[in-house]
Amino acid sequence: MSQDRAKIKYLSSALPKEKEYDPFIEATLQFERAATFLDLDPWIYQRLKYPEKELTVHLSITMDNGRAESFTGFRVQHSTVRGPAKGGIRYSPNASLSECKALAAWMTWKCAVLDLPFGGGKGAIICDPLHMSENELRKLTKEYTLAIRDLIGPYKDIPAPDMFTNAQTMAWIADAYSQSLGYFEPAVVTGKPLHLWGSQGRAMATGYGLFFVLQEACRYLNTEIAGKKAAILGFGNVGSSIAKLIHRAGCQIIAIADIFGGIVNLHGLDPLEVEKYVSRTGTVVGFPETEPVDNETLISLPVDFLIPAACEGQINRENAHQVKAKIVLEGANGPTTLEADSLLQEKGVLVVPDILANAGGVTVSYLEWVQDLQRYFWSEEEILERTEKKMKKAFAEVLAVAEKHRLPLREAAYILAVSRVADSLAALGRAA
Ligand code: NAD
Repeated sequence: MSQDRAKIKYLSSALPKEKEYDPFIEATLQFERAATFLDLDPWIYQRLKYPEKELTVHLSITMDNGRAESFTGFRVQHSTVRGPAKGGIRYSPNASLSECKALAAWMTWKCAVLDLPFGGGKGAIICDPLHMSENELRKLTKEYTLAIRDLIGPYKDIPAPDMFTNAQTMAWIADAYSQSLGYFEPAVVTGKPLHLWGSQGRAMATGYGLFFVLQEACRYLNTEIAGKKAAILGFGNVGSSIAKLIHRAGCQIIAIADIFGGIVNLHGLDPLEVEKYVSRTGTVVGFPETEPVDNETLISLPVDFLIPAACEGQINRENAHQVKAKIVLEGANGPTTLEADSLLQEKGVLVVPDILANAGGVTVSYLEWVQDLQRYFWSEEEILERTEKKMKKAFAEVLAVAEKHRLPLREAAYILAVSRVADSLAALGRAA
């Protein structure tokens, strides 16, 4: 596929979805369900329903062709009740304030499910990162950092990578922020390169977290990962890391998709080979001995595990009834719409919700932040051991709520998270 055709597909695939699906409405409805169950005090309900802060910034940089271009960026802090806001920064042509508000709220609930001393935040820049040079991305990142500088800081709001941002992006943010301080402060972002005081294990952290909860979900269903089949939607940081881990555990991956298209081989794919191919070509499309597959078909394949690891709303009312997987493991944030969630429940699919399943990333981010603040660093084994303990404890706590009240895991996770934040807020006694 030519670069231009790829770009058109990339931009247009996202646009219609945006019109009919509002991630912040979805996030609010999820919160409201838990708030009703918990019968929250009205002032607590109001405080947690809306973000504490929303900042929109307009940035301009000179592109490599000499032309000046403008970009819009956001940083949203949903809650700082239990600690600094924590959450990634995403670069995407269809980023929006509504999406940031939803993702920031989901971060609040995710940190609470894991009982981390953080609130929730999220940021984004509306841009087309696949068609920008490294030089342009660096300039844009530094401009954005200076524009949001007053909001962020090791004790205020700590960004991390998300879709189409990575360790390099975090290094640029750390640099721009530190320059404005006059000294180097690594704890302002997590997900940094190791030589800038990132953490061991961060690159694969979300994958490891998904793997640990999948082990627990399988144990709950009296089964195991080995010998099963999986399909993975999204092959970036999250999708590729969980792919490698389940493949190593004996699971056969039969389909993988990215933004340019998907591939299927019913005899199984080796994610390490696919990763090498992607690093050369930029996409999974065209990987040898595979047939092309679109997202809708991938979602309906006869697999045991379906792992959405791309963007929001991919499992929706149009395709949820086609899902054949026994477990949907949410690597992405908000991949299943509320309507689809109900359809999956009716079908008896075990959905391991995003705010639990993909929390390995923020857990290792937390460990990175702790290491940076104390300027003392742990080995990869120590990081993985702590992460495994935290993820499995969170799964057990969510499952206990689910079993006690006969609820799906998502509702149970929300009830656990919202009650923790509400209790903290009540103890602070900040009623007006
Ligand atoms: P990434 O940019 O590394 O990868 C995203 C992948 O999704 C790419 O392969 C991209 O091509 C694909 N993709 C995007 N839109 C798609 C579409 N419409 N159809 C098919 N594929 C598509 O991003 P990531 O860091 O892996 O994040 C993926 C998801 O996981 C996001 O929802 C993110 O918020 C969530 N998440 C990420 C982390 C983390 O540590 N990186 C942690 C928790 C949750």
